[in-house]
Amino acid sequence: MTTQNERLFARAQQSTPGGVNSPVRAFRSVGGTPRFITRAEGPYFWDADDRRYIDYIGSWGPAIVGHAHPEVVKAVQEAAARGLSFGAPTEGEIDMAERICQLVPSIEQVRLVSSGTEAAMSALRLARGATGRDKIIKFEGCYHGHADSLLVKAGSGLLTFGNPTSAGVPEDFAKHTLVLDYNNPQQLEDVFKKMGDQIACVIVEPIAGNMNLLRATPEFLQTMRRVCTQYGAALIFDEVMSGFRVALGGAQSIYGIAPDLTVLGKVIGGGLPVAAFGGRADLMQHLAPLGGVYQAGTLSGNPVTVAAGMATLKLIQAPGFHDTLAAQTSKLVQGLSAAAADHGIAFCADSVGGMFGLYFAEQLPVSYATMMECDKQRFNRFFHAMLDANVYLAPSAFEAGFVSAQHDDAIIAQTIAAASDAFALIAND
Ligand code: PMP
Repeated sequence: MTTQNERLFARAQQSTPGGVNSPVRAFRSVGGTPRFITRAEGPYFWDADDRRYIDYIGSWGPAIVGHAHPEVVKAVQEAAARGLSFGAPTEGEIDMAERICQLVPSIEQVRLVSSGTEAAMSALRLARGATGRDKIIKFEGCYHGHADSLLVKAGSGLLTFGNPTSAGVPEDFAKHTLVLDYNNPQQLEDVFKKMGDQIACVIVEPIAGNMNLLRATPEFLQTMRRVCTQYGAALIFDEVMSGFRVALGGAQSIYGIAPDLTVLGKVIGGGLPVAAFGGRADLMQHLAPLGGVYQAGTLSGNPVTVAAGMATLKLIQAPGFHDTLAAQTSKLVQGLSAAAADHGIAFCADSVGGMFGLYFAEQLPVSYATMMECDKQRFNRFFHAMLDANVYLAPSAFEAGFVSAQHDDAIIAQTIAAASDAFALIAND
């Protein structure tokens, strides 16, 4: 029998390439039919066949307080009733900027934009404009959105589709992007020794979430901070995923390292399109209208999206919010690991705050290379067994997972029980 999801997918492919507006949604790497979502509430969403799933993507991070939280929805409705967009400044944008600066102290000034891609691209231009240098350093497996300079050996969807980089990025752009190994401080130091005076910035996911979850070692980030200062390059932390998610102050608060610029997204929009980049005021002053680095946006700081973001930021500032989130996520990964061990499956899991990684491997991966050794086929079978049990994981072995404040003990227990059955199934393959 053809399901409604199958019907919609067939229809979508007629009018949209691959039937989706962002590649990983298409289930290409795990196979099968993507679920078309009709509504979401708390930790759940429902597909076009009215099947309910426990959602471990949370819109790829933003839904940290759970879907359709009444206070966020109310803030959006009230803002929408006052008008959708003005193209002129509002007090709400000041509130949002002040809140971001307060929560992430390395950010002295911030600018709001509409997507993580835009924020990372703008931070890069700012670093280049402020230093007068062209070269940038990124790390293999880190994804910073799809701007040309950053789409070189990026993780995430590109890994899922097996493309190390994208067609359409001119060699002339890509040659300014130096791609180094994540968690290899010696290599970073060597490159700076050789050409430090040409490097505008280093951009990094301080806790990577686009080659599955991979923690940076403290030494890696400390070395990065030291050489950037020494050679006058800007250190950019891309905390689009980790910001407000691994801790209220982001990964930088966990490692105790202040970057020069930070890129934010996802949680700060609470599910609506808000992203931001900010950092040292002397750098931010290079932006138009004050300085020569141009950056703009018709919908930047939009009143409705900012209302959603502010309502979300208020909720996650409740005392103990992140402790509870981290404890629930930790319960989940420990339960999954124990269930896998019961069935003799080579499996590990890790979590930081409300973000987790699942690895079909004997040991926790510590680098891009060891991450690539995880058993992708096994992940795909696990993914489908979980989907059959109404648990929705990211449809790719290279994506991190997300827990919301609405994933209570009963939901975690239900997930672990489903995983135990899934592991049993895989063990018999
Ligand atoms: N940086 C990181 C670390 C991300 O995870 C993402 C998106 N997953 C981006 C940048 C790009 O954000 P967006 O999809 O909003 O353009």
